[in-house]
Amino acid sequence: MGKKRVLVGYGIDVDAVANWINTTTGAAQNPTNVSRGIYGATVGLDRLLALFATHAIKATFFTPAHSLESFPSQLAKVRDAGHEIGLHGYTHEYISQLSATQQKDVLKRSIEVLTKFCGGERPRGYTAPAWSTSKELIPLLEAEGVVYDHSFMHHDFQPYFAPDGRETWVETDHAKQAEAWMSPMTRMRASRVVEIPANWHLDDWPPLQPIPGRAGAQGFVDTGVVERLWMEQFDFAYREYETFVFPMSIHPQVSGKPHVILMHERIIEYINKHEGVEWMPLGDMAKEFLEGRMPGVEIEGGVDL
Ligand SMILES: [Zn+2]
Repeated sequence: MGKKRVLVGYGIDVDAVANWINTTTGAAQNPTNVSRGIYGATVGLDRLLALFATHAIKATFFTPAHSLESFPSQLAKVRDAGHEIGLHGYTHEYISQLSATQQKDVLKRSIEVLTKFCGGERPRGYTAPAWSTSKELIPLLEAEGVVYDHSFMHHDFQPYFAPDGRETWVETDHAKQAEAWMSPMTRMRASRVVEIPANWHLDDWPPLQPIPGRAGAQGFVDTGVVERLWMEQFDFAYREYETFVFPMSIHPQVSGKPHVILMHERIIEYINKHEGVEWMPLGDMAKEFLEGRMPGVEIEGGVDL
């Protein structure tokens, strides 16, 4: 067995109020849900900062510009503790539902807000709200000089250059003759944007955040189940790869709850028992890949037509 190198980190989505007021339709929001977001930006955020301080972990806080502008003193604690602040929309807009111009306007404004807050230092990374992406995303990030993305799922434990979105596929449309859609995907081409992959199976929101009335958001899962699911993924990756990344995605309004904080304490302690583990912000993982210290993979697929 060679020398293991495992880059582990937390991506924390500080969705706060933004996630709740982005109803996508402009409908009125329930103020109790908004208060769950305020809890996240205050109580939850403070608990996570304490957890990371105890374990000497530097993490990445993907922060909608709305959260930053609404809770500046809370986000100042994040910045001043040396964590990375990354992009996550303005009000957590689902970019899959925005026009190309709206996507560009939101990205540019969020970059401006974060850059100003961080003393002129531009954000290195981006994660799409709800991981609901668009074909325009990677070219837009590339044009704005964003170094890495954390929204795609081509791999689970290896960094890679994200495909540039020019690959095409034909969607099945039963209103047409079958001949119309029977065609393969065209070849993917790599962009210059590093992908630190996203993974719904390493996300606290679906199992642990109840949203009454919404299917798939039951939220009352025993944290022991979630912990086992996450650590089985870690065990598999540790057995199979000499080098890998292990980014976990969490939210202060979910992971700031007492039972979830206790789960994270156990997870951190378990991971720390392994040789070769280094905790770091996701932006540092991207840097390790770009500078050749983390091999990663190439994503291949599609054909020339
Ligand atoms: Zn989010």
